[in-house]
Amino acid sequence: MSVTLTSIAKEVGLKTADLKQKIVELGFNIEENKKTIEKELAELIKNELKKENQPEEEKSKAEIYEEIIEKELEKEIIKKQRKQTAGKKEQFKEEIGGNSEKEAETLKTGEKTIDIPDVISVKEFAEKSGISAAKIIGELMKNGILANINQLLDFETASIIASDLNVKIKRKRSASRIQDLLEKNLEKLKQEDDPSVLKERPPVVSVMGHVDHGKTKLLDTIRKTNVISSEAGHITQHIGAYQVEKNDKKITFLDTPGHEAFAEMRARGAQATDIAVLVVAADEGVKAQTLEALNHALDAKIPVIVAINKIDKENANPEKVKAELAEHGLQPEEWGGDTMMIPLSAQTGQGIDKLLESILFLAELKDFKANPERPAICTIIESNLDPSLGQVATVLVNTGTLKIMDNVVVGKIYGRIKTMIDSNGKRLKKLEPSGTAKISGFSGTPQVGDILQVVTNEKTARTQAIKISALLGQEDNKTRGIGVDEIMSKIITGEIKYLKIVLKADTKGSLEALKHELQKIKNEDVSIKIIHAGIGNISTSDVLMASASKGIVVGFQTEVGSAVRKVAERENVDILIYDVIYKLTDDLKKLLTGMLEPEIVEILLGKARVLKVFFTKKNEMIIGCKVIEGKIENKSLLRIFKNDVLLGEGQMMSLKKINDEVSEVKEGEECGMKCKSNIKFEEGLILEAYKKEKKNRTL
Ligand code: GDP
Repeated sequence: MSVTLTSIAKEVGLKTADLKQKIVELGFNIEENKKTIEKELAELIKNELKKENQPEEEKSKAEIYEEIIEKELEKEIIKKQRKQTAGKKEQFKEEIGGNSEKEAETLKTGEKTIDIPDVISVKEFAEKSGISAAKIIGELMKNGILANINQLLDFETASIIASDLNVKIKRKRSASRIQDLLEKNLEKLKQEDDPSVLKERPPVVSVMGHVDHGKTKLLDTIRKTNVISSEAGHITQHIGAYQVEKNDKKITFLDTPGHEAFAEMRARGAQATDIAVLVVAADEGVKAQTLEALNHALDAKIPVIVAINKIDKENANPEKVKAELAEHGLQPEEWGGDTMMIPLSAQTGQGIDKLLESILFLAELKDFKANPERPAICTIIESNLDPSLGQVATVLVNTGTLKIMDNVVVGKIYGRIKTMIDSNGKRLKKLEPSGTAKISGFSGTPQVGDILQVVTNEKTARTQAIKISALLGQEDNKTRGIGVDEIMSKIITGEIKYLKIVLKADTKGSLEALKHELQKIKNEDVSIKIIHAGIGNISTSDVLMASASKGIVVGFQTEVGSAVRKVAERENVDILIYDVIYKLTDDLKKLLTGMLEPEIVEILLGKARVLKVFFTKKNEMIIGCKVIEGKIENKSLLRIFKNDVLLGEGQMMSLKKINDEVSEVKEGEECGMKCKSNIKFEEGLILEAYKKEKKNRTL
């Protein structure tokens, strides 16, 4: 059905030509001489225009969340900048000009407490503290930050400067967390201060288990028999997830069976699943991948319901399956344990109702909730190109309600929801918590596991996406895992209580022996937790599991293929391989005490001659150089020579070519650098640049 443009224009109080203009601005194509539009589109446009005219309630709520996130984004950017340097050299010289070290040190502002938000510009800091911006910039510089007046400072930086300048500061708190958006920490993003806004939401279920045990069949059967009735004429879509209804309650199933997809999502930081259904074929029993899937779920702390499938088969033995699972720590309820194990047949449909009821029962127990009233936070569970819609993605709503025409940011992509289609092929206007739909309207390709966030308008969406893009660029596609060195430092600071390892060995015998030995290794503060143990070569799934749990992979007389090694590199997961048991246990003992020495090799890079010393302060210098041999890299270590005599060592803090920070400078080129050293630099010194690299411990 169509509606005339004139009638809509009248309704919303616009001229027809202006209405046409608005329709185009809202992102719809409308032909020049078109006089009517579809009723559905007309409704959307009327809604949008109403929203524009009365921005109060809904927008202000979105704005509140957005503001929180925006602030944290700024903070995150500053953190990155702090590690590098900012501002231009020229400007820097000028502004620093009158600020000698002596002046700064003798500066006395008295005892004064000022409120500082999480992020403050140099200018604002100057205004609040009554200290000149030049002095603040000077102080910043001493701390390795080359800033200009508009530079934003995070609270930590501001407090260092404040203490140097004898100003007392207090943090003005904001309940903000964009870092979480970047790190995909859904839990924090979903947090609500007021629990009364939370409403029950359907559980989200993943189906896992050994290959051929019937995961796909089970998902198909559940879908066919319980799907929410679709309107006639709609074509069922495969969209990576679907919802079914049972006893007037909904359940969302993620339609990518297997723990690989689950592991991949987890490694990306997404936590989409509430309940895992572990499928075990009653004729075959527990297999390697059954345990792998189980361990994935356990490590992610997701409750498990076991579907003992294929009970229609003659040789089915559900009791044997229960006994095998009990051996691995899953006690069936009827034996006094707490795991529901449902015998069923995906083929005949027997037992499926019981499975769905069990899922609902568990969901009620776990009390899954979300706030449908807020702007949506969703997880991307699938992403592809659609011939007619362009870039599309399937989303799962974690909290809030996603509405058509919402402006969204997904990592570095932004967009506006143009269409929303559920698994029944039905076009939706809104999607509530735990709902899933295929949506279109993106500027690029969202990644599986990314978080989608609704923002107030397109401009915000675009600027946020650009900022995130810049951050991701700097972070070199941030990895999820942490290497051995970071694990050790987290053990030392007490952040890690368990060293999580995925253990692979060549035979059952050696695996058992290793498990036994590793159980013995612990000290007061930290112990080893084997999150998965298996026989065979190291697989991608092993690496992803270690990545998601911030652990390592340990192999005994096993191999690592180059594809797996690539994934490990991407995920920043260390793989340690051993041939001798005592060496393995020895190294893990050292790791627990933070004493595992990395095997370091030195790599010589090149030499540079000091042309000019621009600035000297305590142990820091800013110098101009020319590379006379090889190349030098940013952050190189330095040996300082005068007439071939070694004077001492130093480290480069930053490297610039003209005004731009660069990663390396080649032979024949000139550059500026900031260095740290006990040696006072002078013209003519030769700097030998080298770096230390951790030797691959794995083989
Ligand atoms: P997946 O690899 O775990 O997804 O397993 P599939 O769902 O592809 O099933 C593997 C095979 O087992 C297929 O031939 C299915 O038809 C069959 N299958 C699955 N469930 C049942 C069942 O309950 N009974 C019987 N007899 N066969 C089943």
